[in-house]
Amino acid sequence: MNLNVLALPGDGIGVEVTREAVRVLRHVAQKWNHSLSLTEGLIGGIAIHQTGAPLPEETLRLASEARATLMGAVGLPEFDNAPPDQRPEKGLLGLRQALGVYANLRPVRAWRSQLDSSPLKNHLVEGVDLLIVRELTGGIYYGQPRGIFDDASGTRAVNTMTYTRLEIDRVTRRAFELARTRRKKVTSVDKSNVLENSQLWRRVVTEAAPDYPDVALDHMLVDNCAMQLILNPRRFDVILTENMFGDILSDEGAVLAGSIGMLPSASLGDEGGLYEPVHGSAPDIAGQEKANPLGAIGSVAAMLEYTFGLIEESCAVDAAIQAVLAHGPVTADLRPPGAPATTAQVGEAVCAAIG
Ligand code: NAD
Repeated sequence: MNLNVLALPGDGIGVEVTREAVRVLRHVAQKWNHSLSLTEGLIGGIAIHQTGAPLPEETLRLASEARATLMGAVGLPEFDNAPPDQRPEKGLLGLRQALGVYANLRPVRAWRSQLDSSPLKNHLVEGVDLLIVRELTGGIYYGQPRGIFDDASGTRAVNTMTYTRLEIDRVTRRAFELARTRRKKVTSVDKSNVLENSQLWRRVVTEAAPDYPDVALDHMLVDNCAMQLILNPRRFDVILTENMFGDILSDEGAVLAGSIGMLPSASLGDEGGLYEPVHGSAPDIAGQEKANPLGAIGSVAAMLEYTFGLIEESCAVDAAIQAVLAHGPVTADLRPPGAPATTAQVGEAVCAAIG
């Protein structure tokens, strides 16, 4: 098979972790005799520096030609006070929208070897295996009108949370289909006691459910979900939620696994896919070879499965990640007993474990 992939390393540790993810992708392609057409493009702060825009036209062209896009992370501290549409993060929001990737999949698993890295007690976190399905191209991050305005009452900031039936229905069906491959349970998370938006969300999810009679559905308010993720995370299989709630809950989910650096994500639309670790550009450790690349490498496993349908290869990458977590070497965020490994050493170890 020809693996036609665009790599967008972005900023900060995005560069370091993407380098290791690409190392693993090359290794897999070689081992299983796939040809790899790999191009590289600009996004985020580096793209602003080199072209003036966080998402250059050239990057959009390359992404539309690739079957899958592998991204690192965006964000540079020097843009922290810039308005939203001049920030590196604008590039990522624009890319998600241009690719039409409306369903963001964020698996959270507590690996047995890493239980002590979790801030929760072992008996709470052991056995956690959940998947957050977050709506990615709608809701308050994209709704109009938005902005900061001066009017007769003074200065006012406005954001708009908006969803159509179609936007809710398509991500709901994705969540039900994914639940069928797992423990067959969907928990839909909303704020329907306060928001009309959430009332429509709950109605559309409930109406889709009879098409999946083998999947159990329950509904939960987002504030309760934030609490249950800490009190009883094992109760969840698939969590389905809208864009902003999913953004917040998935970072909470990240700490269950021990380190945000371990978490991969896949963003899927009707075709193609965008794959990226959950974490950001981590300016505090950028350029020091301290970043954990396993989230980025796990994103390669997701790409092999969801875009290319290469299940054996994907399982081999996942198994290699588990082997490295169990026996090392791992980076400092996972608090290894001995000296921590560098980002590159972890990437090399994953390749060696694949064989
Ligand atoms: P962050 O995820 O970059 O970092 C949070 C903490 O986790 C930091 O202490 C960091 O050192 C640590 N960390 C993150 N990834 C790690 C890894 N792979 N290995 C080891 N430790 C890791 O979040 P932040 O500090 O809130 O944001 C930094 C910048 O990244 C901001 O500009 C933000 O907007 C951006 N951001 C981008 C994305 C993205 O590109 N998808 C996501 C979140 C934040």
